[in-house]
This record gives sequence, structure tokens and C-alpha cells, in this order.
Amino acid sequence: MSAHAERVYPEECCGLLVGKILLQNEEGESQKRLIETVPLDNEWTAEVFPEDTSTASAQPKRRRYSISPEDMLRTQRQAREQGLSIIGVYHSHPDHEAVPSECDRALAWPEYAYVIVSVRSGQAVDVKNWALDSTHQFQPEVMRISPSSARDRMPVSA
Ligand SMILES: [Zn+2]
Repeated sequence: MSAHAERVYPEECCGLLVGKILLQNEEGESQKRLIETVPLDNEWTAEVFPEDTSTASAQPKRRRYSISPEDMLRTQRQAREQGLSIIGVYHSHPDHEAVPSECDRALAWPEYAYVIVSVRSGQAVDVKNWALDSTHQFQPEVMRISPSSARDRMPVSA
């Protein structure tokens, strides 16, 4: 994720997190295990979120990201073939904190993990993981990297 974020800097990168939902308790909290990250192209255009009339005019991909429905469906199908599912989304914040924006919140889905990579001057400096609570507000979600994990494999748990 960090390498992808550095490669497309100063634009935002994005991709999907594929893995397993391990358990869900009565409060709806779940543990997710990340098996694979799937880097995708940032397909942002103004039509994705027309209500957003703020900053993102001149170089929109520096401030926004969007995953195409085609990429979403293809990744979902490939995940299902391996008995996995999409568990979240990652994207980068060029020269910005690893904290979700209002746009991120408005477009977010409840069950997903949202990993944000902060990139400053082309270097990934911070990675944070977020999930929506029952009032559609982002809360930090604990992220653990297991010792046995391969380079691109790490469990994400709440
Ligand atoms: Zn964002």
C-alpha cells in the first residue's frame, strides 16, 4: 500500500483489501484478516460525487479517489473464487494526515476497513485504519501485522 501510494504521488492511490471477516459479535464488531491488497487505478471524475463543490477542481486526483464499478466487480469475483471477500478499501492522502475527509465519510460503506496512507514529499509516513460506527462516523480500527506475514499479507482486526 505504501509503495503504491509513493508511486502515484502527488495523486491519491486507491485499492481494495481482500480477506476474511473472522467474527462478528452482538455489537456488530468484526475482525478482519487481510490476505491480499489489490492496487487499482484512481478513476475519480467530478460525476462520482457531484455534491462536492469544494477544493478538488484543478488536480482532482490529488484530493479524491474513486474505484470503478468494473474493478470492484472483478475483484469481488476473484475474491469469491478463493473463498474470500472484499473487506475494505485503501487510499492515500498526499501531503495530508492519514485521517478520513468528509468526502471519505460520505462515500464510505459500513462493513469496510478504510486504510489511509499519508504521503509527504513522496514518502509514505503514516498508515491508519478506520471503520464506521453505528452513527456513520469514522473511528480508529486496530491494525496488527502478524510476525509470519508475507510482505503484502497482514491481518487487520478490530
Ligand atoms: Zn481520503
